[in-house]
Amino acid sequence: MKHDLAIIGAGPAGLNASVYASRYGIKNIIIGEVSGGLTTTTFDIGNWLGTQKISGMDFAQKSADHAKSYGVEIIAGKVDKIDKNPPQSPFKKGGREGGFRLLFNDGKKIEARAILLTMGTKYRKLGIPGEEELSGKGVSYCATCDGYFYKGKAVAVIGGGDSAAESAVFLSGIAEKIYIIYRKDKLKAESFWVKSIEGNSKIEIIYSTNVKEIKGENKVEELILDNPFNNSNTLKADGIFIEIGADPSTDLAKSIGAQLDDGGYIKIGSDGKTTVDGVWAAGDITTGSNKFKQIITAAAEGAIAANSIQQYLKK
Ligand code: NDP
Repeated sequence: MKHDLAIIGAGPAGLNASVYASRYGIKNIIIGEVSGGLTTTTFDIGNWLGTQKISGMDFAQKSADHAKSYGVEIIAGKVDKIDKNPPQSPFKKGGREGGFRLLFNDGKKIEARAILLTMGTKYRKLGIPGEEELSGKGVSYCATCDGYFYKGKAVAVIGGGDSAAESAVFLSGIAEKIYIIYRKDKLKAESFWVKSIEGNSKIEIIYSTNVKEIKGENKVEELILDNPFNNSNTLKADGIFIEIGADPSTDLAKSIGAQLDDGGYIKIGSDGKTTVDGVWAAGDITTGSNKFKQIITAAAEGAIAANSIQQYLKK
């Protein structure tokens, strides 16, 4: 398959880049495991201008449909390797370099003149005993995906940022009791979320505390805390939602030699270009937008990259 542009990642950055690219007349393809990326795990989106409230799942579906309405194909698959200027490239003519060849783990190949990396981030783990063993048995990284199982039960949410706060509010519509366990003494989430928590009788915050261990026979039963709560270091809980941020998925970027910052985010210029000619990046995976990780900033970075790619492809 031969395309002007291959977009790897189908979150807001990739989908919005595709909408812009298609409207520029750029033949593009999107490669993404989940259409909509992490937005699919978001409970309610209330800060996308023009839409006061929409569920993450609906937003993701509408975004993917929007991109597809311009004819783009979204394919699932894992890109294992990207070869730059590969032999027998269909683009190698008149002194022009051969673009890129994407090699998939199932043997599929895609040729593209330009690449946009929008793979976003993956959930951070606590790295404590019991976390891996009880993953899927009460340990979860996605409240909107797994919250349903905790009707009338007690759960803990770990973290103090927007994701933790949002998850706790979401879970309060299902579970009976929600403990937010945060290592500092004041939540760092948006005041919108903090106010929603303060007015919620089901949510209790345990400050200045870390979970040291997750215990249970075949499912989560209790958490071991590093500070006593109600005179005990053991907290009974049926589930634990770990919402402690995410790290960029940059294995591919590293493999083609794109420069990363100390946190592992792909360095981009104001035009979305990485340090590798012909490769752009946009969204949560980059150092862009002052590292403000929002749907709107990811989408905007996608648009900016598409605009820059359009100029590049004219050459
Ligand atoms: P953040 O990085 O913003 O917050 C992570 C939280 O987890 C912090 O409170 C951090 O503590 C805590 N933490 C990190 N590592 C550990 C650890 N090992 N043990 C215990 N606690 C830990 O991640 P989020 O997922 O909350 O948000 C990511 C981005 O997405 C942000 O930019 C956020 O604004 C955005 N977002 C926005 C939403 C919105 O409604 N606008 C909704 C959801 C996400 P500490 O504070 O001590 O560093």
